[in-house]
Amino acid sequence: MTQPGASEAPKEASASVVAQHAATLKALPFSDASDFDDASRGFLGTLEHARIASAQGRVVWSLEPYGFLSDEKAPATVNPSLWRQSRLNMHHGLFEVVPGVYQVRGLDIANMTLIEGERGVIVVDTLTSIEGARAAMELYSRHRGKRTVAAVIFTHTHTDHWGGARGVLDDETLASGGVPIIAPNLFMEHAVSENIIAGPAMLRRAQYQFGPFLAKGPRGQVDCGLGKSMAAGAVALLRPTDLIMVTGDKRVIDGIEFEFQMAPNSEAPAEMHFFVPRYRLLNLAENCTHNFHNLLPFRGADVRDALAWSKYLGEALQMWGGRAEAMCGQHHWPVWGEQRIDTMIRQQRDLYKFAHDQTIRLMNHGLTAAEIAETIKLPASLEGAWHARGYYGHIRHNVKAIYQKYLGWYDANPVNLDPLPPVDAGRKYVEYMGGADAIIARAREDFAKGEFRFVAQALGHLVFAEPANQSARALLADTLEQLGYAAESATWRNAYLFGAQELRQGMPKASPRPPMPRETLAALRTAQLWDLLGVRLNGPKAEGKRIVLNWAFTDTEEAFVVTLENCALTYIEGAQDAAADAGFTLARGALDEVIAKQTNFPDAVASGKIEVSGNATRLAELMALMDEFPRMFEIVEPRRTTVS
Ligand SMILES: [Zn+2]
Repeated sequence: MTQPGASEAPKEASASVVAQHAATLKALPFSDASDFDDASRGFLGTLEHARIASAQGRVVWSLEPYGFLSDEKAPATVNPSLWRQSRLNMHHGLFEVVPGVYQVRGLDIANMTLIEGERGVIVVDTLTSIEGARAAMELYSRHRGKRTVAAVIFTHTHTDHWGGARGVLDDETLASGGVPIIAPNLFMEHAVSENIIAGPAMLRRAQYQFGPFLAKGPRGQVDCGLGKSMAAGAVALLRPTDLIMVTGDKRVIDGIEFEFQMAPNSEAPAEMHFFVPRYRLLNLAENCTHNFHNLLPFRGADVRDALAWSKYLGEALQMWGGRAEAMCGQHHWPVWGEQRIDTMIRQQRDLYKFAHDQTIRLMNHGLTAAEIAETIKLPASLEGAWHARGYYGHIRHNVKAIYQKYLGWYDANPVNLDPLPPVDAGRKYVEYMGGADAIIARAREDFAKGEFRFVAQALGHLVFAEPANQSARALLADTLEQLGYAAESATWRNAYLFGAQELRQGMPKASPRPPMPRETLAALRTAQLWDLLGVRLNGPKAEGKRIVLNWAFTDTEEAFVVTLENCALTYIEGAQDAAADAGFTLARGALDEVIAKQTNFPDAVASGKIEVSGNATRLAELMALMDEFPRMFEIVEPRRTTVS
């Protein structure tokens, strides 16, 4: 008898995984240590273990749990190429890029770049959290002296690049309005919207991408590819005061000239690159990093445009090729020297172009997404370039994203047009395959042969047919685990290992979802709030109902008619309906307070913040039709709750 709970513990790597790792060690240029030299070059100092705590003592970031990465040799349970990247991402502290330009790295998944001006310092990206940004600024000041912040630049719309802005600009500075906040055009429109409408689904899926609930260790989470992991801490969005509109736009900030290049719909919907002639410094934001980035992250997103991405890198070469002495990004470490910069940009440009063009070529030959992933192979010149390896995105899922962008989910084979959903299909597969025991017996044989991909598929059907079958769950968990150990991509590893963990232990307990912060709400247009409400409407419950509400906002001078009919919530902007059931007159901030649960609707009415006409109970009736979304839902097994 095994110990109770022993089957829940992570296992050893199998012989086939060990053999795969040995082949990887032979195939890739592990003797090339230039990345390690670059990642440590210019080191000035750091915080112990890169540990950052909030004022309440809550640790929001620490690399201490990753101490196991000090071993140079990868354990059998981690792909050696991923182990190498995980070790590179352990470098932390303040680094000089060139005299006058510094980076804080490893105190967050992203970097902060600090560019010294005549008197002050220009801060490029502000990390994920206020605590992190504050710690980064203190570290910088300790080594470079106290300098006032001359400007803040946000390179793009992802939270790890703006969430900590309030740790860089204190309230007094903010109130004075004297410090420009510079961002690419459409920054506010995209900064929060990418994660709002599908937020609940995306956040749950992100757990599979980043692995925050996995133990850190050789059999658990080791990295995210782009950096160590997601940072915790307080996040606040600051509105930019100066938008860069077109490629070629320039600004002189604190005596330093910046030349900008727009790169919309690349890694983020609004993103930009820049060159600083004074320092011969090129910054390509998150479009030229030390890994093949994601064209479609596992959390889910709009598919990114690989073709545009490649063109921006080509354009950057054309604009600034041969002029940069150092190139840094907002993740990973810089590269120095004209020749090496040129090579890296060319290879990254061609990585995205190759993936794009060859996917389309194979697609036009009739291959489906899964077949393209199986067929495509990077050319030798890119295969051996460390920065082209798929630690975050991966060629095998990026090609599927490209296929999806052009052709969508359907492979055009009508057998896949209307398949049974997982539970129904699972039951039929199990029946056709001769029952659970027959499947498990065959699966064990194939597991021993290292055929993990098909074993996972077959056992997946069994778990959906019989979620209480412990042998099936345990063997599927073991199988996903081996796939995780084999994976070179950190996101694949996290996904596989977290799937294994949930099969063994069930879903982690998560605290209830906090209400949306006021600042996030303030960044949303009122029309977006109605869109957000629309996706919470429970269609079946709304059957037969018709509710019409007028909304008038005193401060923004907006007016809306919001209508529920045909189980759909729609709105007309700039109008009021004379026959509406009720009308509400209020400041937009009052609505935000209600949504943020800082007050409730009746209290806001009683205090005079909201003026009501007509039958206000119709609003309560509408709100009673809204769903609350769970923070957690089953992924590797059937849902326990019925949703209709
Ligand atoms: Zn980022």
